[in-house]
Amino acid sequence: MDWLADWGRERAAAGLQRELTPRAAGDPAIDLASNDYLGLTRHPAVLDGAIAALRRWGAGSTGSRLVTGTTAEHELLEVELAEFTGAESGLVFASGYAANLAVLTTLAGPDTLIVSDAASHASLVDGCRLARGRVAVVPHADVDAVAALLRDRAEPRALVVTDSVFSADGDLAPLADLHRVVRANRAVLVVDEAHAIGVRGTGGRGLVHETGLAGEPDVVITATLSKALAAQGGVVLAADRVRNHLVNTARSFIFDTGLAPAAVGAARAALRVLRAEPERAGAVLDRAGDLARLAGVAAPPSAVVSVVLGDPERAVAAAAACRAAGVSVGCFRPPSVPPGTSRLRLTARANLTAAELDTIEQVLRTVLVEVPA
Ligand code: PMP
Repeated sequence: MDWLADWGRERAAAGLQRELTPRAAGDPAIDLASNDYLGLTRHPAVLDGAIAALRRWGAGSTGSRLVTGTTAEHELLEVELAEFTGAESGLVFASGYAANLAVLTTLAGPDTLIVSDAASHASLVDGCRLARGRVAVVPHADVDAVAALLRDRAEPRALVVTDSVFSADGDLAPLADLHRVVRANRAVLVVDEAHAIGVRGTGGRGLVHETGLAGEPDVVITATLSKALAAQGGVVLAADRVRNHLVNTARSFIFDTGLAPAAVGAARAALRVLRAEPERAGAVLDRAGDLARLAGVAAPPSAVVSVVLGDPERAVAAAAACRAAGVSVGCFRPPSVPPGTSRLRLTARANLTAAELDTIEQVLRTVLVEVPA
């Protein structure tokens, strides 16, 4: 496989080589890189929820959800997530990625037009690639382009696919307008709420709920349990008939082992904490505003603060400088973001302290001024 070395050299020359850097246990760096938006991943109640489920059901779920991989705990989590977001039902997957593949491959057929936002998450893009319908990618947040495609289509069925909070820029999809054109054109709106659950909407119920679209029959939500909910896994929140269809036809549900019990228990506990302390959702947005101010960018409508630096080399150098100064930040480069928009991605956490923000201020001031353009 000599060609791998050639491809590796091309990646390195473009500044796009990636390395895995294991986290050190007890790392004192301030975390602005993870998706632990509500700061729940080490919350005692969440750890206890994981341990109790682990002890009760075992380390693994032991099989497909359709065979031995469904525990009572999986079903409770599904009911609780549906109730929380206002959906008719929920179906838990081993990951959000698998949930997105499931929705796109099973709700679309050869007679289906799939309209996807240019900034849709990679797992939605891969779902589009695996689905058998015609895929049309529209410019980011361009509702008129969506409407024109839906109106002029030859296909009897159509899906419109978008993130609600976009993962790289942290901006919001125009869900109300999208739903209006979806409804008018008898289509279905598929919304990935991975970065919105726990952050947007009353008590973190998500942007679909905030937009007044909870429980609408033509809206299908996908989400992950790995960000605000501090665990692992994915979920589809939709009408009962969608759930039933997915259980029977989604290959990433049927041929995948059910989510591990510990992850289910952790997600249930995180949801209980969020319900008891709904102010965590507002706190994460407030802290994102603080981080944006310190970085000299506009306050985002989500937990994601994006500081665009341009070249991948510059972004990598800035991220390394932050790391060396004790602040761990994300670094996004192509293909995760368009060429020329490599960036630092700072994610806010509800439990960032004033002392941490002071340190972050000093580090960002030094790094953003000193890293050469
Ligand atoms: N959708 C979006 C918008 C995401 O950011 C992610 C995770 N990065 C996923 C889906 C996939 O979720 P999971 O990590 O649970 O597979």
